[in-house]
Amino acid sequence: MTITSFIPPQRTLMGPGPSDVSARVLSALARPTIGHLDPLFVGMMDEVKSLLQYAFQTKNEFTIALSAPGSAGMEACFVNLITPEDTVVVCKNGVFGARMIENVNRIGAKLVVVEGKWGRAVDPQALEQTLSKHPEAKFVAFVHAETSTGALSDAKLLCEIAQRFQCLTIVDAVTSLGGVELRVDEWGIDAIYSGSQKCLSCVPGISPISFSDKAVEVIKNRTRPVPSWFLDQSLVMAYWSGEGKRAYHHTAPVNSLYALHESLLMLKNEGLENSWQRHQLQHQALAKGLVELGLEFVVPTDERLPQLNTVYIPKGIDDAKVRSYLLNHYNLEIGAGLGEFAGKAWRIGLMGFGAKNENVALCLAALKDALAKA
Ligand SMILES: *Cc1c(COP(=O)(O)O)cnc(C)c1O
Repeated sequence: MTITSFIPPQRTLMGPGPSDVSARVLSALARPTIGHLDPLFVGMMDEVKSLLQYAFQTKNEFTIALSAPGSAGMEACFVNLITPEDTVVVCKNGVFGARMIENVNRIGAKLVVVEGKWGRAVDPQALEQTLSKHPEAKFVAFVHAETSTGALSDAKLLCEIAQRFQCLTIVDAVTSLGGVELRVDEWGIDAIYSGSQKCLSCVPGISPISFSDKAVEVIKNRTRPVPSWFLDQSLVMAYWSGEGKRAYHHTAPVNSLYALHESLLMLKNEGLENSWQRHQLQHQALAKGLVELGLEFVVPTDERLPQLNTVYIPKGIDDAKVRSYLLNHYNLEIGAGLGEFAGKAWRIGLMGFGAKNENVALCLAALKDALAKA
């Protein structure tokens, strides 16, 4: 077998991530690699920190880009903050809430689950009732934007409730960051993680995270070390603390961080609120077209994520056939159903750079053709 260079096709990515990466971000990726302790690179990392503070709407000193995907960001929040003595309330309304549960179980902490419905937002009343029955609870964890179902939860209200019961909050913002309103400081979020490849439209593999001063206190007051060496944020803090103080921990993904810097700069230039609004407007156009094609949304209107549209697959239509038709004839990727929705729903992403007229038009035309052929 002769192996030659891998040349990927030019796809349009309208699944649950990764999303389309712009030429501008891709060209940042191709710039010369320099040393991760080079003063110029350290300066760029400081800018990434400040751009992330803007994206998260936080002044948290501990705001960094973890050198690993969103799943590692999730794990970093759980293993750093939680010890086996703690009681953690996890609100579960999809696949990613279930992964939070997995994290709590592996740590060996006490788990209380607020069971939610697939395709619905987390029920704030259910959280409130659970917390009043569990005064020992120390943390509340939930997913802001459940990518497995397309449901958006009211993070502001859930945090308010958690605070009333003196709980710290851990929030999954992998799909929400940049796509819908998110205000870490104003809403009082204590630990939050995201991903580079969803509404930031950067290459996969980086997880922005941010901890409030209260969360940092919890980490500093730990009596036993974090069980994961790589994710131990007390060691990583020094790595991100700027020129002169920078100590080697691991080698940062230098070029990927150029790309993240560029994508965050694009978000800053556009303006966060403008980006939220663009996602909403493109979603409305797509939703109108999908309904015209006879497709039915899974999530009720006021709980829908603009950046991830879940629709039921019509009866008698072959899921895999339609998706491979879209891929082969239109170079268009849409997402399959996940978990309970496997084979039952499609997940159509409008994330970051991909939330634009061209993608909405392509998706509607291609789906129309595919459904007529099926
Ligand atoms: C994609 C996603 C993750 C995991 O991110 P990876 O970069 O794939 O590890 C976690 N939570 C949610 C809500 C996601 O959509």
